[in-house]
This record gives sequence, C-alpha cells and structure tokens, in this order.
Amino acid sequence: SPPLLQVNDLKKHFPVKTGLFGRKSEWVYAVDGVSFEIARGETLSLVGESGCGKSTVGRAILRLFDVTSGQVILDGQRIDDAHPSTMRQMRQRMQVVFQDPFSSLNPRMRVRDILAEPIRNFGLAKSAADLETRVTALMDTVRLPREALNRRPHEFSGGQRQRIGIARALAAEPELIVCDEAVSALDVSVKAQIVNLLQDLQREFGLALLFISHDLAIVEHMTHRVAVMYLGKIVEVAPRREIFAAPRHPYTKALLSAVPLPEPGAQRNPIILGGDVPSPINPPSGCRFHTRCPYVFDRCRTEEPQLRSAGGEQWVACHLDALPAG
Ligand code: SF4
Ligand code: MG
Repeated sequence: SPPLLQVNDLKKHFPVKTGLFGRKSEWVYAVDGVSFEIARGETLSLVGESGCGKSTVGRAILRLFDVTSGQVILDGQRIDDAHPSTMRQMRQRMQVVFQDPFSSLNPRMRVRDILAEPIRNFGLAKSAADLETRVTALMDTVRLPREALNRRPHEFSGGQRQRIGIARALAAEPELIVCDEAVSALDVSVKAQIVNLLQDLQREFGLALLFISHDLAIVEHMTHRVAVMYLGKIVEVAPRREIFAAPRHPYTKALLSAVPLPEPGAQRNPIILGGDVPSPINPPSGCRFHTRCPYVFDRCRTEEPQLRSAGGEQWVACHLDALPAG
C-alpha cells in the first residue's frame, strides 16, 4: 500500500510588495521543491530555523491555501487539487495542533462544545448518547477530568489547553496530525508531558505525526525521522539515530551543535555560522546555504545540490564528495 502521505516537489511562491512605498513586486520562495513521505504510525519531524518554510509545508498539506505546484497525496489520493467534497473527507483524516492553543480555541465555547464540533461536522456520532460517550472518552484519552467539559479555555493552564487542542484533533479520528510548534510555548516540564502524551496516542491509535519544530532537543526524544529545512528546501532527511549521531549536511551539523547533550556538563563542539539566514526573496543561487557554509567551493555558488543517499536511509543535498562525518 502507498505511504500515508506523499509530498512531491511542493512549491509555494507568493508575491510581496517591497522597496520604497511598496512599489516593487517580488516573489517569496517560501517552499521551493520539497518532497518527503510519512508512513502510517510514523513521526517525521520537520526542523529548521524560523522562516525556513516548515510551517508553510504543514499548512500546504492541510490545504489551508493553494500550492504553487507539486503534489500532496494522502493514502494514494491527490489532495492538492481535490474537489471541495473530496477535501471534506480528507480534512477529517488530517488534523492539526497549533502552537498557541489559546488563540486556536474559541474562548466562548465550553470544552464539551469544542470537542463536539468536529464530531458533528464529520458526522461521526450515531446518536446524542454516542456524541456524549465520544466527548467524555476524549477527556480520558488526553488525561483531563470529565468535570472540565463544562469549563471554558481560559480556565485552564497552557498545558491543559494543549491537551484540549489535542483532544479536538483526535475527535475527528484522524490518521495524521500536523503538530506545528505544538509544545514550543510550554514550560520545559509541561513540554515533556505533552510529548509523552503524543507518543502514547500515536501508539494507541497508530497515528502519523508531522512534528514541525525548531526545538531539536524535543525532537530527539520522540521522532522516527527528521527532515531539515533551510530557505524553503530540505537539505537532509534521515532516521533519528543517524541524524543525531552523524549529521552529514553542514547546516544540520551547525544546527545540532547547539543542542545540549543529555549528560550534564557534556557539550557538542559549537559551530557558529557567519551571517544571518538570507531572505526567501531572491534566495542565494546554487546551494542556498553557500553564503554561510564553512565548506563552500565554486560549484556551490552556481549549481543546486539534489538530495542523494549518504548511505542507508540518510539523504543529503550537498556537493561535497566526502561529506563531513558526525
Ligand atoms: Fe556547503 Fe557547498 Fe555543501 Fe552547500 S553544497 S552545503 S555550500 S559544501
Ligand atoms: Mg513557524
């Protein structure tokens, strides 16, 4: 059977007004040829600095906007150009948990109604009693007290609100949940609890997760594979073990060098990159990382590197013949 999700050469470009008084029209290459797959029950983490296009990929998959080109295929069926009636069914199979549960939960609604809404929208309950059973079961699933069903979002802590956000996503009985910085705004101890909850739910329901995050320390604890993005492109994709033990792309190496090691006092050798991340408007030619790469050579400035296997399931977009080892 096909992978649960396939993304093929996805592009999202949009125009912006720049220059004095916004007289100039330019293009933002927010996502510029991204391909990957997610298997059923798998977690793929999409990582990179803010502005690299990872959230745009997540939103494109959910079809919160139309893409410029490329394909998004869920369970063998294209959704990037799907008819609204098909899209309705597809939406039920893919849900989202955003960073800020407070702004994504309607403050006037009681938790009961927040959870009932997707169940009603997708016609999942057979009766009023079934609806009630589902809503209370969701509270148990995300480990919130049933009494809380009658309260409103502002009565909860950040971590509890995120549990409500997760329960709302689960209410639709999805196969894939896009988690867009879903734990980033939470305190460290709460982060760990929510990540553990997501892992438990994944095992219980066979959920696939697209875990979008800039926080590699969290990703290291919970992902199966990692895709690293830089300026609208994936520069490396590999299983967790390979990427954390032996990152190969120079950008991945720099990104990971800042992640603290679990042993107290231990540290990776920090790699400090020169310059800022360039703008996705008119990104650098050739390898987009060439303006900051410590290994840059002539070819990098003109020719764009394609993802190629660096052994096993590790794929790297870099021209170096001998990729730097971990
Ligand atoms: Fe660095 Fe060149 Fe590899 Fe890009 S292609 S990461 S600039 S060595
Ligand atoms: Mg973002």
